Amino acid sequence: MEAIKAPRGTRDVLGDESWKWAHVLDVCRDVARDFGYSEVLLPIFEHTELFSRGIGDTTDIVEKEMYTFIDRGGRSITLRPELTASMVRSYLEHGMAHQPQPVKLWGHGPMFRYERPQKGRYRQFQQVDFETLGAANPLADVETIDTSIELYRRLGISNLQVLINSVGCPKCRPVYRSALQNFLGDRLRDFCETCQDRFERNPLRVLDCKKPGCRELTESAPLVLDSLCDDCRVHFDTVVTGLSRIGANFRTDNRLVRGLDYYTKTAYEILAGELGAQNAVCGGGRYDNLAEAIGGPNVPGVGFASGIERIVLTMEGQGAYPGERPATDVYVIAVSSDASLEAVSLVHEIRSVGISADMDYMNRALKAQMKQASSVGAKFACIIGSDEMKSGMVGFKNMASGDQELIPRDEVLVRLTA
Ligand code: ATP
Ligand code: MG
Repeated sequence: MEAIKAPRGTRDVLGDESWKWAHVLDVCRDVARDFGYSEVLLPIFEHTELFSRGIGDTTDIVEKEMYTFIDRGGRSITLRPELTASMVRSYLEHGMAHQPQPVKLWGHGPMFRYERPQKGRYRQFQQVDFETLGAANPLADVETIDTSIELYRRLGISNLQVLINSVGCPKCRPVYRSALQNFLGDRLRDFCETCQDRFERNPLRVLDCKKPGCRELTESAPLVLDSLCDDCRVHFDTVVTGLSRIGANFRTDNRLVRGLDYYTKTAYEILAGELGAQNAVCGGGRYDNLAEAIGGPNVPGVGFASGIERIVLTMEGQGAYPGERPATDVYVIAVSSDASLEAVSLVHEIRSVGISADMDYMNRALKAQMKQASSVGAKFACIIGSDEMKSGMVGFKNMASGDQELIPRDEVLVRLTA
């Protein structure tokens, strides 16, 4: 029988990598605390409607990428492709609108999209997500962008490109949309099939087509920033001023778009050169009409999501590791079989004071145990043989210097905690 492998587009994160993930989440937790976000744990599956209404029927995600199935009760269920819609659902469902505003939430976990797997692009991937609900103030956008920048700074990631744009609002976007359609309509046959398809349903998305031919054709397309209404213009200018005030390194990018009505005003993305084709480490923006789209009252919101796989790939590419892979501090070596039980009890005692310790369970010879002690990165080895058993002593070896001395068994913890 053929061995069963993990499904295409999923990956096992093993010990040599998972500690980096734990470090990323630790830093997220610290940033969340310092910026005032509280953590929410949301379901991995939701009613399909939440996403078809909350992300939009004409997006790639909803059209082609969702993992949707009918459950045993006949409901259409979808494995979440992102967190924002769930965050807004949770906010509405739990009456968070009645708390002091804004409400800042963060969460993390696996997301699911049926995409073509490549480096940095998977079918199950992990996101951290930060959302601020209830504030229409452009300074909330500044804070959101600052949160993401601070997160990467604390992770030791550098050389990121922060790109921002405005996609207007339902008042000014139709004006831009028709200006863009006029421009595109004249050249439509020269665009790729996907862009031709987007022309009617979601023309703004033509701007972020990655195909060089299409990009060249849109070089001279009208700019969304030129069609903003007064409200959106002031909002955008305030975001730019605010970002400058905190010393953020960013630039505007007219191609950055979200084509749907409930994505409003600020759109932003953070790119990392280390990622190659999948270069976005973070995507975010404002969605003032999303709550209404999923059946709630008007609740403005702004937030971002960042892929942990891409964060870790970027850190690896830059050799940025403020964190350290956890190592075993002490390795206890039993040289005779009667010493093994003594080793069990010493390992137990060392661990109980919060120092990591391990021992041999494979009946290895002394030399092989010493090798094992080095390979787990132990700083100290405690060696117990028949003589030590009799005298109540332990061989205490500093692995870095190689110095070894005989100390009373009772002094081991004192030495380790000194
Ligand atoms: P892309 O343009 O790369 O498809 P996106 O615009 O679909 O990204 P968002 O929906 O904004 O991405 O998600 C936010 C972040 O989640 C991305 O910036 C990226 O870091 C990560 N991400 C999105 N899709 C995937 C995926 N399939 N595999 C791994 N990470 C992903
Ligand atoms: Mg995508």
